[in-house]
Amino acid sequence: MHRFSEIKGFSPALIAQLSKLGIYAPAGLLLHLPLRYLDETRVTLIRDLRVGEQSQVEGVVVHAEVSYKPRRALQVRIEDASGVLALRYMHFYPSQIAAMQVGTRLRVYGEVRAGFFGYEMVHPQQRKVLEDTPVSTNLTPVYPTTAGLSQTALRKAVQKCLTLCTLEETLPTWVYATLNHPSFANSLRLLHQPTPDIAYSSLEDRSHPAWQRLAYDELLAQQLSMRQHYARRKQSHAPAIAPSQRLVPQLLAKLPFQLTAAQQKVVHEIAHDLQQAHPMQRLLQGDVGSGKTVVACIAALQLIEQGWQVAMMAPTEILAEQHYKKLHGWLSPLGIDVAWLTGSQPKKEREQSLADLSSGKAMLAVGTHALFQDHVSFKQLGLSIVDEQHRFGVQQRLSLRKKGQHAQLEPHQLMMSATPIPRTLSMSYYADLDVSTIDALPPGRTPIVTKLVADDRREEVLLRVREACLQGQQAYWVCPLIEESEALQLQTANDTYAYLQSAFPELKVGLVHGRMKPAEKQAVMMGFATNQLQLLVATTVIEVGVDVPNASLMVIEHAERMGLSQLHQLRGRVGRGAAKSTCILLYNRQQCTKLGRARLKVIYESTDGFAIAQADLTIRGPGELLGTRQSGVPMLKIADLERDVELLDQAKLVAVRLLEQTPEAVDAHCQRWLSLGSEWVKV
Ligand code: ADP
Ligand code: MG
Repeated sequence: MHRFSEIKGFSPALIAQLSKLGIYAPAGLLLHLPLRYLDETRVTLIRDLRVGEQSQVEGVVVHAEVSYKPRRALQVRIEDASGVLALRYMHFYPSQIAAMQVGTRLRVYGEVRAGFFGYEMVHPQQRKVLEDTPVSTNLTPVYPTTAGLSQTALRKAVQKCLTLCTLEETLPTWVYATLNHPSFANSLRLLHQPTPDIAYSSLEDRSHPAWQRLAYDELLAQQLSMRQHYARRKQSHAPAIAPSQRLVPQLLAKLPFQLTAAQQKVVHEIAHDLQQAHPMQRLLQGDVGSGKTVVACIAALQLIEQGWQVAMMAPTEILAEQHYKKLHGWLSPLGIDVAWLTGSQPKKEREQSLADLSSGKAMLAVGTHALFQDHVSFKQLGLSIVDEQHRFGVQQRLSLRKKGQHAQLEPHQLMMSATPIPRTLSMSYYADLDVSTIDALPPGRTPIVTKLVADDRREEVLLRVREACLQGQQAYWVCPLIEESEALQLQTANDTYAYLQSAFPELKVGLVHGRMKPAEKQAVMMGFATNQLQLLVATTVIEVGVDVPNASLMVIEHAERMGLSQLHQLRGRVGRGAAKSTCILLYNRQQCTKLGRARLKVIYESTDGFAIAQADLTIRGPGELLGTRQSGVPMLKIADLERDVELLDQAKLVAVRLLEQTPEAVDAHCQRWLSLGSEWVKV
């Protein structure tokens, strides 16, 4: 059975509903696994109910009325031989009232609470039954579903597929030899219709071998398809770039610092990739301030020396601008033209940049995603560099890759990220990339001191800012993130700016936010970089990449609202020079949620990006961490990178062996799991 339309009872309406869940074929439906289970295998006497437990009760309605105090609710009481149970519904349809007339026999299922007059259930599931209706023999699965598709219909559909489909193994038996897991077929049967003897907790926390088996299969499919993609890439062609003899040594001689060992290591890894006749696809990760820009610049010079152009894309104008300045400063003494391209620059300037790129006069282009629009053409692009790559969507990355295709050659790609990725995540989601990590900061940085201050002590903080600025330091004042309203956020920034200006007449205060015109933004950043402004009021636009080494104090308002990686990135704006830096996290006691408190504790205790990312993974889950919501890379559906880390290690090893020994089995396996709608490979 490969198609729903071949199965009796799958109406077009049902098929359409399933497709809303991303299920297009019987194989996909079988892998649509329960969220949880109901134990409807027994009926509990009302007398034996326990508060907090989910139970099934059968009784006859003895009372039903719609009451209006304290608010509108349908109040029902049912009775069995042992006692009375109250049912309460705040949302209900007239049909529900009708279905619960006095005398009706109901089976209800829900969590028992202690109510005013004894036990009660709020919004239990209920159905009408006849006396002596047998109870279920299996736990009842509850599936993720969509409006209009009932659990009953979904259960029926799954059961049909289970009986009609053959569920053969896709991979050779040795793959599972060391693991004590049931077969694929048995795992699916068990999870869709578990018998009551199975420990419910092992189903719920997914530690049951049947869950583990499927998680492992999913991880294997992910590893396999990503490794296949990786192998395919190694078959396409890119310019092989000889090591630089001239430009890189010239740059190094002019730099005011020496590369750290960590930087040298990644420079070598990249140089080695560039020498291959296949497109590099490397992720360069390194904590904020670890010095990725100069590494990217060295890679760029290697190409430029051989006559190939390079494009460097940043997610925001502020960051692109800063890269432009830095690279222009490094490259123009070497006689290399750098073009600057953003969506907002004056027409004439842009036309000049475009002309310089297509003629090959400019060898390096720096800009925002404007770089990869259709009308931009390069003479011959050999390398694309993407800073903060996780901030770009799939489409943007795809257009970037298409951009430089030239006489059968693809450009090399270097992606950079300051969001350190915990090991499990990078193993899983970046299995189709090569990863280089700058694992140490340049020397001479004094660690940042982080302080947590309740915002009823603002006055003290204000004094401290004033003092620091009067002593020649510079400070950032970061305004709170207001997710619900950009307008409100802007207003807060404006208010704070006005307030700080009047509070500190002796200081020069600047304001920068996302809604300013690029030229204005640029002027303010310039003023701050050159120390004409001492205090910079900013929204979170300064989160990425801004580099002003003299700034050594940062105040973040309502830090409890911000995410961990955001706080880490923000804090990374200070501590870039030799001066001792401080980051003050102002938080509001009343508004600080449990989650907010957990985050503040992490950021207070650690400055290590990897440790913070690991904590973030635990707190938020991989989807949020990778920003995949925007980039559209779907997540694993069954496996969990924290819980199943051992399976992941194993899957990684096994995938390599499988690809060597039985490539035909690999296809069948990936096919099965891709029917789940997962597409892991990044473009
Ligand atoms: P990030 O990795 O966050 O992009 P940057 O490339 O902006 O970091 O580098 C941060 C700062 O450190 C910059 O001012 C840069 O010039 C400086 N820097 C980079 N490498 C070194 C080094 N080896 N020694 C000293 N300073 C360095
Ligand atoms: Mg950077």
